[in-house]
Amino acid sequence: MTIALYPGSFDPVTNGHLDVATRAAKLFDKVIIGIFDKPAAKHLLFSVEERMTLCSAAVTHLLNVRVEPYSVLTVDFARQIGAHVIVRGLRASSDFEGEFEMALMNKKLCPDIESVFMMANLRYQFLSSSLLKEVVALGGDIESLVPPNVLEALKSKMHLLEDKAPNVPRR
Ligand code: ADP
Repeated sequence: MTIALYPGSFDPVTNGHLDVATRAAKLFDKVIIGIFDKPAAKHLLFSVEERMTLCSAAVTHLLNVRVEPYSVLTVDFARQIGAHVIVRGLRASSDFEGEFEMALMNKKLCPDIESVFMMANLRYQFLSSSLLKEVVALGGDIESLVPPNVLEALKSKMHLLEDKAPNVPRR
């Protein structure tokens, strides 16, 4: 049985993430979406519990996909759950360098774990959780980019997003 770990911060989960998870679920017996508790240098909008709840609700239809939080090195978490594959998504060329470095480091730390990259769906090439939050803060329509539960959660945090964007006109 091949278990794949799809790690990330998922703050919040988007249709781009879900597209990768759905495709990974067809390739591997079991996919664990690992939600990294406290990514360095990231301004998180949602707590790890909120990110877990949002992501879990969005993948209930994928029977071999589970969501779990973690706060250790990604390769250590992969070992803990018996995963031999780490899945990551690649958008345009901007993701490549960072992902390449991380994959090489993970290989050094844990040679028996393979990194597998899935090209982002053309529809979601431009989509990132951070850009999404900026667009929401500026009142843009993101309905086609996130599952309904995430749309609601983002709306309920609108005031926090506006606070972080001082030039955003108040409605
Ligand atoms: P991280 O902080 O680890 O980059 P993210 O939640 O931003 O966590 O992303 C998790 C993974 O999902 C990364 O491999 C990222 O490249 C991928 N990803 C993010 N957005 C998309 C998207 N729109 N399409 C495909 N993959 C994506």
